[in-house]
Amino acid sequence: MTSATVDTRTLVPASTDRITYANNVIDSIALPASGTSVNDPATGEHIGYVPEIDVTGALEAVGVADDAGRAWARTTPRERANVLHAWYDTLVAHTEEIAHLITREMGKPLAEARGEVKYGSDFVRWYAEQAVRPGGDFRDAPDGGANILVRRGPVGLAVLITPWNFPLAMATRKIAPALAAGCPVVIKPANLTPLTTLYVVELARQAGVPEGLIQVITTEKPADFSIAVLRDQRVRKVSFTGSTGVGRQLMAIASDGVLRSSMELGGNAPALVFDDADLERAVDGVFAAKLRNGGQSCIAANRIYVQSGIADDFVDALTERLAALEVGHGLGDSTTLGPLIDHRAATKMAELTRDAISKGAQLRTGGGAFDAPGSFFAPTLLDHVPASADMARSEIFGPIAAVQRFDTEDEAIARANDTEFGLAGYVFTENLDRALNVADRLETGLVGINQGVPSNAAAPFGGIKQSGLGREGSAEGLEEYQNVRFYNIARRPST
Ligand code: NAD
Repeated sequence: MTSATVDTRTLVPASTDRITYANNVIDSIALPASGTSVNDPATGEHIGYVPEIDVTGALEAVGVADDAGRAWARTTPRERANVLHAWYDTLVAHTEEIAHLITREMGKPLAEARGEVKYGSDFVRWYAEQAVRPGGDFRDAPDGGANILVRRGPVGLAVLITPWNFPLAMATRKIAPALAAGCPVVIKPANLTPLTTLYVVELARQAGVPEGLIQVITTEKPADFSIAVLRDQRVRKVSFTGSTGVGRQLMAIASDGVLRSSMELGGNAPALVFDDADLERAVDGVFAAKLRNGGQSCIAANRIYVQSGIADDFVDALTERLAALEVGHGLGDSTTLGPLIDHRAATKMAELTRDAISKGAQLRTGGGAFDAPGSFFAPTLLDHVPASADMARSEIFGPIAAVQRFDTEDEAIARANDTEFGLAGYVFTENLDRALNVADRLETGLVGINQGVPSNAAAPFGGIKQSGLGREGSAEGLEEYQNVRFYNIARRPST
């Protein structure tokens, strides 16, 4: 193969039992008989409609959430914790339903969808535990003439906008800390994957989250939504996860009202594999960092830099792992790589591959889309990708491993940092001193050291440079939904 082609392998079909199970879950959500169509990316098949909510409807939802939020802000930390614990238990009890729904609307293999349910639910449990630790502290003025009482309270109504790639986790990572802090929310999921949000918000209601506190807005006109809603005086916070371009637009709108903003934006993660890495560990880590979610992750290893001494062995082993993936419907028995989210994404993979090959990259495996109604692209490895290739400068967001080679540590770090993005980085070496030094020098918000899946509920996830502002998960994630205030209490000099 010399250029982007059609892959002739047979796709793994969906299991009919699992399709029926997923359809039953969709039937259990109260969906309208018409509206915006949601489709299965593996087949293009229509699976449900969601309502198109216009600006008037969105502003009404802001009013409902705002009203519900007044009582919620007055609840005790323990009451909020209890509600979140109940929601967590319900999510865990419905793991299979949620996982099937995620796979049906987003495409990832069922095993990965189950993993997302665990990862996404964990944010709810974490913030149930964190709700009773709202923070605050007590200080002395330097001259001893006052005490400073630092208080943390809810920021107020939060607008949450989420992407399609982790339909559950991106929602719970925002809703749970907002609720824990005492805030009501209006959430707008991505048009491509709104069903999971609708389903888990209904589970939240059943678990005891007060009526009206979480409002879901589905719309095909997100710009109209954000212009109207972010300028509404009742809204006090916006938290967005998505592309850097849309994040910039939202920050511009938010600046009108000096709105508290959290921005979890795009990445272009470098993975550095040094000669002194453990080969198996490095291949496992880079494979996970690249292929998790079919490569459709903001922290996906986008540029894989491998030192020349280990490069041939590493590329051979990673090629073998990619070629062994079974591509097909996420509800198939043996599928390990699902479809891309849509045809636009598959076309982009083909264009990126063509561009890299025309600039000198060598195709080791894959390289083509499948001739199928769904949006499939073969797992692909390109070696010797030049720094000028489009895939080295922008997010690939698909199953293409792009390998570049390097000689020295300084050279690798300079190349890794040569990007406006700064979300994730990865280092593979068995030398602790090198691992920590390289991690310190990488300009990213998080670093995976000898591992490819660095995120969990206890970690303050987020980017630097143009990858964003603010953190999600951990204690820092709660602070994003809190106002810090202080009371200055005058003291008489002690006698
Ligand atoms: P996107 O920016 O196209 O869309 C994200 C969300 O914003 C969707 O709900 C979309 O409908 C909405 N949106 C689009 N235009 C809008 C507007 N003008 N006003 C208001 N909302 C608008 O991104 P996507 O394609 O859904 O997701 C992929 C991107 O998300 C990638 O760049 C990825 O790196 C990023 N991402 C980042 C993180 C992170 O934590 N940093 C996590 C997941 C995904």
